[in-house]
Amino acid sequence: NALVAAAAGQRREVEFPRKADGKPKYSSEVYGENVFTLKTMAKALPKPIFSSFLKQRRGRQNLDKATADSIAHAVRVWAMDRGATHYTHWFQPQTGSTAEKHDAFLSLLSTFTPGGEEVTPIDQFSGGQLLQSEPDASSFPSGGMRSTFEARGYTIWDTSSSMFLRTGPHGTAILYIPSVFISYNGDALDEKTGLLRSNEVLSRAACELVNLLEPEAHVSHVYTTLGTEQEFFLIDRTMYALRPDLKITGRTLVGQLPPRHQQLEDHYFGRIPGRVMRAISELELECLRLGIPVKTRHNEVAPAQFEVAPIFEEASVAVDHNLLTMDILHKVAHRHGLRALFHEKPFKGVNGSGKHCNWSIATDRGENLLDPTVRPETNYRFILFLLAALRALQQHAPLLRAAISSSSNEHRLGAQEAPPGIISAFLGDQLTEVLDAIEEDRTVKNFSVPQFQSIKVGGTVLDVKVAALPSIARDLTDRNRTSPFAFTGNKFEFRAVGSKQSPSFPVTVLNCAVTAAVTEITDALRAQKGAKPRLSDDDKLAVIRRFIAETKSVRFEGDNYSEAWVAEAARRGLPNIKTAPEAFTYLIADKHKRMLVDETGIFSEGELQSRYHILNERYAKDLAIEAETLQTIVGQEILPAALEYRKSLAESAAALKQVGVELSPEVETLNALAPLVKDMQAAHVALRTALAALTEHEGSDSNAHARRACESVAPAITRARDAADALEAAVADKFWPLPKYTELLLTI
Ligand code: ADP
Ligand code: MG
Repeated sequence: NALVAAAAGQRREVEFPRKADGKPKYSSEVYGENVFTLKTMAKALPKPIFSSFLKQRRGRQNLDKATADSIAHAVRVWAMDRGATHYTHWFQPQTGSTAEKHDAFLSLLSTFTPGGEEVTPIDQFSGGQLLQSEPDASSFPSGGMRSTFEARGYTIWDTSSSMFLRTGPHGTAILYIPSVFISYNGDALDEKTGLLRSNEVLSRAACELVNLLEPEAHVSHVYTTLGTEQEFFLIDRTMYALRPDLKITGRTLVGQLPPRHQQLEDHYFGRIPGRVMRAISELELECLRLGIPVKTRHNEVAPAQFEVAPIFEEASVAVDHNLLTMDILHKVAHRHGLRALFHEKPFKGVNGSGKHCNWSIATDRGENLLDPTVRPETNYRFILFLLAALRALQQHAPLLRAAISSSSNEHRLGAQEAPPGIISAFLGDQLTEVLDAIEEDRTVKNFSVPQFQSIKVGGTVLDVKVAALPSIARDLTDRNRTSPFAFTGNKFEFRAVGSKQSPSFPVTVLNCAVTAAVTEITDALRAQKGAKPRLSDDDKLAVIRRFIAETKSVRFEGDNYSEAWVAEAARRGLPNIKTAPEAFTYLIADKHKRMLVDETGIFSEGELQSRYHILNERYAKDLAIEAETLQTIVGQEILPAALEYRKSLAESAAALKQVGVELSPEVETLNALAPLVKDMQAAHVALRTALAALTEHEGSDSNAHARRACESVAPAITRARDAADALEAAVADKFWPLPKYTELLLTI
């Protein structure tokens, strides 16, 4: 029935909004419609109030009560005019997703008259209510940051991210207030606080370096910029509903590849299926309204896999927008009879999903500090920031590895489709040549020569120019899809981040590591400068040469998937961290802890410890949930199906024997089935044993627990899966209780 329904197709069409004259609105006119932007604020607020808010936003003063009250009033009127009945502090607990609790604007005003108490309903929203609210923190992961009896947590408005409206039921709306989440003692309980802190320290360090290099620059703020390419799968929702493993764990725990999947390489950038196109368009419309600058959409490598990407923004806003995009996609997909899968590896054997985090830093004058410009070889500021990123990677690669580690991303990393556990950087031929030339004190080869930068479109042998095709500029860097951290033109692309995870922590860690590196470089330049009034080019070159030499080991231009690289990386002494629990230990290892806690001060010792525990606990819990789910599916669906099939074969064989047929194909099939069923049963028992052993050790050291899950539960899951997949191939289709990969992947 599910197949027939899916084949009949779902048709939901959302019309793009129109102007009063009936012409379609332009995207730029819809953009930010549902956001309480600075522009809207400027119109709605008295001038002194607005400028006092701007000062607070730039960190120059605290928000006083009068200003907060005025803003609260203005935003309430704006929101209620658009149908809002409730407001919510929207925050990012350490669960990878977002949290919200709604409160109504409705309030009761009591007046006491001689006749008694009179109650008047009013709509109200005070400055105090805007600034903070107080959800019970005890039901969010805190990694021992506080115990249940000290459950107080606060959500506080993050004024750097605009408030916005989302649709509620019956045509109403809800006012969202982007917030941070901290404990009674001010410890970060969320993802965002650390990110905001890391932006701030990186800004300070980068300003110092820029102003030291160019004393007349007077740069006062530097922004981290982030563009997140989000990959995901969209499958038919009814098929999804028939797969308990997908529903519970986000991935298929059993299932064999169909004969055709991604081997023809015909899906990537292919025609987007109609139903998916309609869903993605609706997603884009909602994103536009929320001021999320969605830009790109395309098919990804695997069947049923897609990608959307926005224009980059200031990092913490980009993170808010990425989390919103995922949430909207989830809801929109539902309306189109689809289900969005954000898991890093929902299907074994086809490509998994990532979230490429394009990262750079820009000054308050809008200059991208990682823009190589026309002559990078003389752009010392660019070279120094590039070296800072390399230095960060070289010093703190294990931290980056830890920041992207989860039980789900583990299936992707090192699976010949995503970067391996070795973190290295790719720069491309030309930048490599620039660094080599500077190091060897020679001129740059063939660089900045115009014809070298354009690609000849004619045949190379005949050198015929095809008149109809324009000659095109070539990017400064080529592509290397295998590198975990690739320089792509004017930014780094951190490709190992998982599709499901919030980009917040990986970016926080990257910011911190770069901050430490920028500081190290600034100190080296200061020492080089000595008492001189300013740095000479030779001073700069001396420091540049030193850092080029020192960071060489982390640069790799070859195939990161190859065995040769594993050996080469070992020779270079680069860490090759194979599992998530191993990666987590680096979070609290001396060298890295010193950087996060003492040098940059992004996390307190307690905050870091708590994150370490949360990550370990989450890893072990994820595996336990998978194991339990698989155990149930095998015990209640797969084994009974196999036995049912066997019974039907046996009955046929018996009936045939009665009419004198001795050696029927049924008997052969029965004999072939027997060892498979036996193996499935043994794997089922092994899974139960591994799970029981894990539960028994609960409460022990969280990392030891995670390691146990990794070493005993994960292999038991794999073994049970192999046995189940062998059965899937052997059991008649009409007996098989679950939709197969063919149905899941090829039905949209
Ligand atoms: P590519 O195909 O080279 O990866 P895309 O056009 O797909 O390029 O862009 C990838 C992402 O990188 C986009 O979200 C884009 O906005 C973002 N990006 C571009 N420049 C920067 C930058 N300076 N900082 C951060 N992200 C950037
Ligand atoms: Mg890209």
